[in-house]
Amino acid sequence: MTKNLKTPKTVLAVFAHPDDMDFSSSGTVAKWAKRGADITYLVCTDGSKGSEDPKVTPRKLAAIRKKEQLEAAKILGVKDVIFLGHRDGELVVDMKLKEAISRVIRQKKPDLVITLDPTFLYSTKRGFVNHSDHRAAGQAAIDAVFPLARDRLNFPHHEKQGLVPHKTKTLLLVSFDAPEHFEDITGTFAKKLEVLKAHKSQVPATAEFEKRIQGHARMLGKKAGFRYAEGFKMIRLS
Ligand SMILES: [Zn+2]
Repeated sequence: MTKNLKTPKTVLAVFAHPDDMDFSSSGTVAKWAKRGADITYLVCTDGSKGSEDPKVTPRKLAAIRKKEQLEAAKILGVKDVIFLGHRDGELVVDMKLKEAISRVIRQKKPDLVITLDPTFLYSTKRGFVNHSDHRAAGQAAIDAVFPLARDRLNFPHHEKQGLVPHKTKTLLLVSFDAPEHFEDITGTFAKKLEVLKAHKSQVPATAEFEKRIQGHARMLGKKAGFRYAEGFKMIRLS
């Protein structure tokens, strides 16, 4: 088990839907932002399917969720939010997606990339299937970190546009089932709740919801000896 990384200077978070990163990692992101990290969010889809409201259209929902994600990023101190705009539910791991992520890696030069663990497909215990967009975003992000953004001969037109290869040192994967690395979010847990509430179309403003988030953070904290934590798998790339 590992705990509490040294604050990275530059962070790129790659995920599928507006709110993914805020549910899984906003306590950690808030902590690093407070300590001066330069953080970028890269949102692969438009989140246009995440609603049961019979009156909402995909176009309307995409606009709402974009606004919510921008508001959440502002609260967190995330400096830049990039939307790739793929249709929600239809994200596929292809070279187009990998190139787009590689391009941002070469532009932002992150020390650390955080994304969703693509190997997690389902949990029989929790009765849960991991959304295919989550898996696609995570897989494409890992492939972009290594080897695509790192090696010069991938996407040679990038070089002509002034982008040089970049080697990311640390990959942090949001672990849904078996975290091995923990970040203490005791000091930013209140901010996590505030940020989640910015996703109004997704999050019920109820005490029950807060209790659920608190219970999860406490459960992860218990594993690592913190009051509240978020859980990951960490890969140091040599
Ligand atoms: Zn999602």
